[in-house]
Amino acid sequence: MSVTKLLLDESHVLLRKQCERFARAEIAPHATKWEEAGIFPRELYGKAAAAGLLGIGFDESVGGSGGGSLHLVVSIEGLMRGGSTGVAVGLWSLGIGLPPLVQSKDSFLTDTFVRPTLAGETIACLAITEPGTGSDVAGVRTRAVRDDATGDYIVNGAKLFITSGTRADVITTLCRTGDDPHGGLTFFVLTPDMNGVSVSRSLRKTGWCASDTAELAFDNVRVPATHRVGAEGSGFVTLMRNFQTERLALAAYGVATAELALEESLRYVRERSAFGRPIAKFQVTKHKLADMATKVEAAKCMTYQVAAAMDAGKYQGRDKALASAAASDAPSPAASVHSLRSSELNDARIDGVRPPQPATAPRSPRATPTPNLGLVKEVSMAKNFAAEVAVSVCYDAVQLHGGMGYMRETLVERLSRDARLLPIGGGTQEVMKEIIAKQLGL
Ligand SMILES: Cc1cc2nc3c(=O)[nH]c(=O)nc-3n(C[C@H](O)[C@H](O)[C@H](O)COP(=O)(O)OP(=O)(O)OC[C@H]3O[C@@H](n4cnc5c(N)ncnc54)[C@H](O)[C@@H]3O)c2cc1C
Repeated sequence: MSVTKLLLDESHVLLRKQCERFARAEIAPHATKWEEAGIFPRELYGKAAAAGLLGIGFDESVGGSGGGSLHLVVSIEGLMRGGSTGVAVGLWSLGIGLPPLVQSKDSFLTDTFVRPTLAGETIACLAITEPGTGSDVAGVRTRAVRDDATGDYIVNGAKLFITSGTRADVITTLCRTGDDPHGGLTFFVLTPDMNGVSVSRSLRKTGWCASDTAELAFDNVRVPATHRVGAEGSGFVTLMRNFQTERLALAAYGVATAELALEESLRYVRERSAFGRPIAKFQVTKHKLADMATKVEAAKCMTYQVAAAMDAGKYQGRDKALASAAASDAPSPAASVHSLRSSELNDARIDGVRPPQPATAPRSPRATPTPNLGLVKEVSMAKNFAAEVAVSVCYDAVQLHGGMGYMRETLVERLSRDARLLPIGGGTQEVMKEIIAKQLGL
């Protein structure tokens, strides 16, 4: 048993089981086919929504299922039991595409885009990265210029590597509305039916294959002012808040990837024989697996603890959720987390976020301001550590599988490709270290 279980209450345990059941029934039987096709059926969003799995971490008032950060972590672990990171991240692109809209508390954006997406009717994505900039968010060049005659904005630019971008109905897009590198950024919702929005390329990838990834082009796209998310200039701080959840989720993907690779390896070394004995009998094999298991446990402890710290005292209704979960033998995931109210969580878990302050003295155009985000160091550490563990455990898992580990038919082969993105996506390993170092006062 992992000591991390001590951090879970009954609602987490039930939710994880429910997600795992969904993944084994709806994803696992098709995972290989969808990985090869580079996409999964759109209907899966509807099925996941009906099971209450899309709205985890979103307040019921916006159509979510409630729950907190630790619920999100265990739901990712459960979904990963489908054996396809691509499907899991494709289903969850709303987890990065919708929070800016929810944070804006704009009822038009909520009703038009958030609710239908959480209901599985539409697909949302987040478009930050561009051909010319990724880590350096202040380098975003996609520009939204206000047309004073109509109040609309005219958007021109391009976005790259956008998960779910080839078929997203809701494109939450970071645009430049002013010259200040950080204070001049604003989110807008673009939709594929707007004139000038196009998918320039559907990208082929090393891993995460069942998720579609797009390059998008925006050519004189007229965007109504009602599609602006929050005030002009609020984009950078909104994005920093968003990164907290995204990076925690990526830590959870790392833990789940490594755990699956470990389990596959434990099974394989008992079945496979060499020199007249199961390879599990070689001391070097046992030690390798002992190291892998230790790393998985450490990454899991760190990720769970950060998630629990995010949740601590931040949402009410925990007892109510427990009572509701205990009242039913097999509650739906929606039922198990439904009574949790996460509005406080969504607003309060990142304490004291301040709007960008006007610069009083000249500073480097690339000096990144640090909004006061709670647990930013810990989230960055967990993301980096779990990503490293996933890469290293998958490397060892492939090694333990010998030639079979290099074959498309083994899960560890897929996991080893999927793991490689974790130190890159959502903020690279190096950028995470910059953040950690800054928090250490360096
Ligand atoms: C499969 C996939 C899915 C993705 N999904 C999305 C999505 O849905 N939405 C979205 O907006 N983006 C998405 N991304 C983009 C992803 O977040 C970026 O790739 C990532 O942030 C890195 O940016 P970059 O690729 O431009 O690399 P760069 O920023 O060009 O970095 C290149 C190298 O330079 C290093 N580097 C950069 N700055 C520093 C520094 N200050 N100090 C030290 N080293 C530095 C980096 O660590 C890296 O090693 C996705 C990417 C992939 C591959």
